[in-house]
Amino acid sequence: MIITDALVLHRTAYRDNDRMVTLFSPDHGRLDAIARGCLKARSPLTNATELFCAGEYELHETHGRLSVAQCRIQESFFPLREQYERLTHASYLLRLLLTVVQPGDENRRLFLTALRALAFFSYGNLPEALVTMAFELHLLSCIGQAPRMDSCGRCGKPIEGPARFDPSRGGTICLNCPASGRRISNGARRILLRVPQTRFEVIDKLEDRPEWPEAAHLSRAFIQSRLELHPSVWPELPDLSQTEQS
Ligand SMILES: [Zn+2]
Repeated sequence: MIITDALVLHRTAYRDNDRMVTLFSPDHGRLDAIARGCLKARSPLTNATELFCAGEYELHETHGRLSVAQCRIQESFFPLREQYERLTHASYLLRLLLTVVQPGDENRRLFLTALRALAFFSYGNLPEALVTMAFELHLLSCIGQAPRMDSCGRCGKPIEGPARFDPSRGGTICLNCPASGRRISNGARRILLRVPQTRFEVIDKLEDRPEWPEAAHLSRAFIQSRLELHPSVWPELPDLSQTEQS
């Protein structure tokens, strides 16, 4: 038997009244389980097997297959369903987790970061794209793939100002080295450097920084170079027309 906190990443109907669910557990990584009878009227497992549901799950193992026995729901992030923009970004967060979380992976930091990001989408007033950028950067850091933003990917020298950005070289390239990557502002460079080192709760401080939309584009370019996802899942990026020059 497994008792663990978990977040529902994916669910699909199975036979008449059952669902298969994919859970993200901070202690066990990805867990796939069947929830028997959860689509019957008044089943206590119906809500526990909805997307975004977070709670303490009790799972039983029979012949190597897991089933959901019960769940104490802690948070269902209900307001996500009320706004298209929020739902799009939150669904993307689940897709990212589905892509990176493997069975047996212990990753409490990534788990807690995901819950905090979903809480920002549900109850906060920050732009969705800002929360998504911060989550992308934390996720990359949690899996050991954060972009390198403080030294040059060619000559290795430290970078303290504007630079070029080349995801294929892992991050920044200094302005003295030949590179084809786009030129980036010092402010955006510092956001990519700092966000993964800063607690997720303080991302609201980023909203006043004029460079955050630029940083969001860089973060997306970087994650697209690292993870293969269906093009339809990428949520919209902020408009750069007002902030291009910085
Ligand atoms: Zn260089």
